[in-house]
Amino acid sequence: MRQPLIAGNWKMNGSRASAEALMRAVVGGVSGGGCSGKAAEVALCVPFVFLDLGERILADTPVRLGAQNVCSEPSGAYTGEIAAAMLKEFGCRYVICGHSERRDYYSETDALIAKKMVRVIEAGMRPILCVGETLEQREQGLTQTVVASQIDAVIAANGIQSFAQIEIAYEPVWAIGTGRTATPEQAQEVHSFIRARIANHDALIADKIRILYGGSMKAGNAAQLLAMPDIDGGLVGGASLVAGEFLAIWQAG
Ligand code: PGA
Repeated sequence: MRQPLIAGNWKMNGSRASAEALMRAVVGGVSGGGCSGKAAEVALCVPFVFLDLGERILADTPVRLGAQNVCSEPSGAYTGEIAAAMLKEFGCRYVICGHSERRDYYSETDALIAKKMVRVIEAGMRPILCVGETLEQREQGLTQTVVASQIDAVIAANGIQSFAQIEIAYEPVWAIGTGRTATPEQAQEVHSFIRARIANHDALIADKIRILYGGSMKAGNAAQLLAMPDIDGGLVGGASLVAGEFLAIWQAG
């Protein structure tokens, strides 16, 4: 049995005050309110500058802390970058790697993403590897080809054993921030394809790995998505910025 993971991806949103209020509301909802004993794990992947706040507010609560990016090098002269060891020191458990916004706007390649994942694992954290096709690629029937190449690149670079220490998020680019969610069947099809791809290398790792869905997941569609056999949680953007909405997704998990 895979424990679902509901991870909020705040992206570049919030102020000190709103970040604190949102963290406190999520902690309150997850630890109290008659919801204790819920099976899904919760994490908040926040902007770097709110990690210190997150470490203090989330310490000794069930809510885990995460970051949204990391440098591919361990330390040194990389102006403007943040090292994996620094994230670990601030109490991070998860680091999103290869989000489509980073692939698209910052030209991150599969090779760079694989390197970042090595840094995260070395530092004792877990990368959340994001994969997914654009609308154009889906319409051309290339969904499986694109997702397979994104997964295969990491297997080739880091080895299949590294997949025992990661989460995957399938995030169709056309569904991110668009309000257009993949149907549960569309998502399940890709999730089971990803799991099968991993199983070709190692059946046990494939069975254990959590594959999250991301792309306009909301309180209103989470239950149907999370009911699918190969959907093991969510990477939630917009809806993670509203405590009530995010907590409702967590409850659906
Ligand atoms: P969204 O973003 O939920 O706002 O679509 C998801 C993501 O990009 O991780």
